[in-house]
Amino acid sequence: MIDTHAHIDVKDFDDVRNDILIRAEESGVEKIIMPAIEPKTFNKLIDVAKSSEKLFFGIGIHPHNSNEVNGEAINLVEKIINEQNPIAVGEIGLDYFYDFSPPDVQKNLFRKHLKLAKKYNLPVIVHNRDAFEDIFAILEDEQDGTLTGVLHCFSGNTEQLEKALNLGFNVSFTGNITFRKSNLEETVRTAPLEKILLETDSPWMTPVPYRGKKNEPAFLKFIAEKIAEIKKISIDEVIKMTTKNAKSLFKIVILLFFFSFCVSSLIAQSTRTEESEFKDLFSEEQEVFNPYEKSIGIGGFLGTNTIVQSIEEAKGTRDVSYEGIIFYGGLINYFPWEFVSIQLGYVYSKNRKIVEKSKNLLGPNIHQVFELGTQWYVNPNSRLNFFGTLGPSIIFNKFGEGTDKEKENSSFAINTGIGFNLNLPFTGVGLLTVSAEWRLSFDMTVSNTFGIIFNPNDPNDIKFVEQRITSFFSLPRIVVAFYPFNRQ
Ligand SMILES: [Zn+2]
Repeated sequence: MIDTHAHIDVKDFDDVRNDILIRAEESGVEKIIMPAIEPKTFNKLIDVAKSSEKLFFGIGIHPHNSNEVNGEAINLVEKIINEQNPIAVGEIGLDYFYDFSPPDVQKNLFRKHLKLAKKYNLPVIVHNRDAFEDIFAILEDEQDGTLTGVLHCFSGNTEQLEKALNLGFNVSFTGNITFRKSNLEETVRTAPLEKILLETDSPWMTPVPYRGKKNEPAFLKFIAEKIAEIKKISIDEVIKMTTKNAKSLFKIVILLFFFSFCVSSLIAQSTRTEESEFKDLFSEEQEVFNPYEKSIGIGGFLGTNTIVQSIEEAKGTRDVSYEGIIFYGGLINYFPWEFVSIQLGYVYSKNRKIVEKSKNLLGPNIHQVFELGTQWYVNPNSRLNFFGTLGPSIIFNKFGEGTDKEKENSSFAINTGIGFNLNLPFTGVGLLTVSAEWRLSFDMTVSNTFGIIFNPNDPNDIKFVEQRITSFFSLPRIVVAFYPFNRQ
């Protein structure tokens, strides 16, 4: 188990901290995360964290203390992020129950912390008391796809739970779910196990059966037990999953900005080596919640096709190009992994242009392209994803369309391209992506394609000649696709 929220750096524990760590270990707590409270005690918090391999800390200013801090305090938080490897920004948030700081001061400080968390890719530990509405409004506003975190000591109803989950947040439960008067049963039952963390919130929130005593991480098992009881699953299952959740949330997320999957996996490997210098909380594979998760989607696109051909003739090779041919089509996109999608696309374009005073004309004709592409995403967890494409295509050409001398042929091509997606999630429904992509199809079938000799005064007066033609299609496009959510 991991106690994701225990203030064991506080004075109450000074004399008994070692005993508490021993008892925690005996009860199965392998790691403890200590969120910060106020700048005055930052140094002590860091010293305590360094005293044991089992201890980790978050850095930030508790909403209770918002009023006491000046502009330098947030700089101090950033300095500690840079120098001391905290694993989270927290605890931060809003508390309207106690009237220690005015709401505006709290909100302002909360936002500053969220911006720091995004800047350094750290998860946030959020405290909330009587402030759900403002917490959600601010989180929604700051959520750009990179913000991760936990709403600690979660005590909302199922509606608030759903909002938290839609924002990509985890929730952690503490001793209050064991209280006889607790009204959290429905919330605990509804919360998906893969979004739940365990915490004691020591020295407060002591669970049943130790109410009245000072809380400590060794009591974490009572929270796990209660969750298992409510969800009617085994305690082992609760422990296994919540531990996994905590390990993946409090891991540093590294965004990669390179335009090839190979390069990015190499980079990922080298950064993994760097990360291994951190304590072994980070040793498991990262699993970061992706608010822009896609699995299978359908869409359509529109663009203009430019066809460039090199025609081999006795007197040499000459190039002709046909621009501005409108094309449209549809696609199915399937994501076997978040970094890669397999796309089947169909392009229809009809060249209505007649180029006068030229022999070996291409038009009027129809080109249909079936594209099988793999798209490689550089940063799939962001609102804006960059990708590169590579795959085979088959091009079906129909020449002399509409005349009595129609001819058809097909050729094999390689398609490649670059583009970006803008992800627009619709809560509970799905994800709409709008993309701009520039794709090129290189025709690999060099020999014996058709050239057309065409009489501009009479569209029916055409002759086909066999020529060696190499062509490529430039197909820039705007793509709109929809991915229904299939979250449990
Ligand atoms: Zn706390």
